Amino acid sequence: MARGKLIVISAPSGAGKTTIAQTLLASHPSMKFSVSATTRPRREYEADGRDYYFLSKDEFRRRVDAGKFVEWEEIYGNYYGTLKAELDRCLAEGTHLLFDIDVKGALSIKRHYPEALLIFIRPPSIEMLLDRLKGRKTEDAATIARRMERAPMEMETGMKFDHQVVNDDLGRAIAEVDRIVQAYLTN
Ligand code: ADP
Ligand code: 5GP
Repeated sequence: MARGKLIVISAPSGAGKTTIAQTLLASHPSMKFSVSATTRPRREYEADGRDYYFLSKDEFRRRVDAGKFVEWEEIYGNYYGTLKAELDRCLAEGTHLLFDIDVKGALSIKRHYPEALLIFIRPPSIEMLLDRLKGRKTEDAATIARRMERAPMEMETGMKFDHQVVNDDLGRAIAEVDRIVQAYLTN
């Protein structure tokens, strides 16, 4: 059986990667979302085990010590990580996995799995990034400021990705990501 493939989507917070990733998943039944673990509080619309595995910091650290993560990062004061067991199982059974993880995590995945496809979603401008983050209404002002502080490093690191897509018009950006993914999967 063919091994599953890995597609990683990263972007500064608010650029639209979750929106794009969810649309992609809906149109590719052969693809599964890689559910990460995190210590950040659950948002109202999120479900445990579907969007993230929500863990306490103690539980997360215990799993780090037990070697359960392929990669993990501290981002905005919380931990986020990719669990090894789920990834290996999906690859072995031929399931393609879609990751919504940060730029550093994406490069770690590429180091472990050089065949992985890395797509960076770029906001049209920093001002529009801030507008979208505010418009989402999921974070308070201090958290939004913290997320914005990380954007320059993310924009810089995104230059190392296999592809960069500007999320100006959502439909256009989704179509471009879709083309890139189709070409990768049929290769
Ligand atoms: P991320 O996962 O990168 O943090 P989201 O997918 O949550 O970003 O998108 C942030 C906000 O911007 C959401 O409210 C989303 O509906 C909106 N959004 C996403 N793409 C666009 C776009 N192209 N134009 C306008 N708003 C967008
Ligand atoms: P959010 O809190 O908005 O869901 O995510 C914050 C950041 O953490 C985003 O850049 C998101 O892609 C990233 N992230 C989510 N899961 C993981 C993961 O498993 N590993 C890494 N390195 N980053 C992650």
